[in-house]
Amino acid sequence: MPEQRQSRPSPRRDHPDPSEQDLAALVDLVRGRRVAVLTGAGVSTDSGIPDYRGPDSPPRNPMTYQQFIGDEAFRRHYWARNHVGWRHVERTSPNAGHRALTRLEQAGLLTGIITQNVDTLHVVAGSTTVVDLHGSFDRVVCLDCGHVVSRESLAERLEAANPGFVESIGDVADIEIAPDADAVIETTAHFRPVACEVCGGTLKPDIVYFGEMVPKARVARAFEIVDEADVLLVAGSSLTVHSGLRFVKHAAKAGTPVVIVNRGETRGDPLATLTIDAGATQTLEALAEALLD
Ligand SMILES: [Zn+2]
Repeated sequence: MPEQRQSRPSPRRDHPDPSEQDLAALVDLVRGRRVAVLTGAGVSTDSGIPDYRGPDSPPRNPMTYQQFIGDEAFRRHYWARNHVGWRHVERTSPNAGHRALTRLEQAGLLTGIITQNVDTLHVVAGSTTVVDLHGSFDRVVCLDCGHVVSRESLAERLEAANPGFVESIGDVADIEIAPDADAVIETTAHFRPVACEVCGGTLKPDIVYFGEMVPKARVARAFEIVDEADVLLVAGSSLTVHSGLRFVKHAAKAGTPVVIVNRGETRGDPLATLTIDAGATQTLEALAEALLD
């Protein structure tokens, strides 16, 4: 279960490239071994999706699953924000880090990718064995009957129910699609969410909220990916929430080396064989180059 997020200032190097020494150590550890990869927000920042948990991020006050379920005003507010923000995510493209992982997978070096991101960019980049641990932004599920629809098809219904709403909001500075209770609810008070077409029930983005469990089958599949690997590589995650940190604990307990590539400290650092304070994009690119070229 994800915990409340905390902003945690960490020392940060100005340069996103890994040092030669770090890169050599990484290549040594990974060469000739099968690798499970766990990715977080830092892998997608170079695609234009902000990392709300990164070292430079403001404190967050995320909306919880309980608020979404129990409070119609929160639900309306969330859907209004999502209605405005989701297309920004849809318009993003994979970056060199996503593509490097796809090349490593195609070369048979990965057991799979477990991602905490909901942006689907690993799949868009061509990776095939991907576990979307926290769900994906492009699906919507009915909490009452389980019916699943695409976010695209829901967009048409929301647009019809709220003509001119997106335009009335104007420039959106905050484009996140994750739940957030910070912003002012009044600005979205006139938004009209829509109900499930099948049963009239409550719709929710197929994203794991704070206070919500990751589905068991998904967690089990992610553990398989870790168990099949000789090394666990964490990229772009500060491992703030248990849902990601548990894989590091699991690997460390099994004696599987853990490498963490992240800008700033992470909660997994004490368990890691190697930590690299560098950009995920630059490091993954350099790793693919060293192993494949
Ligand atoms: Zn339904």
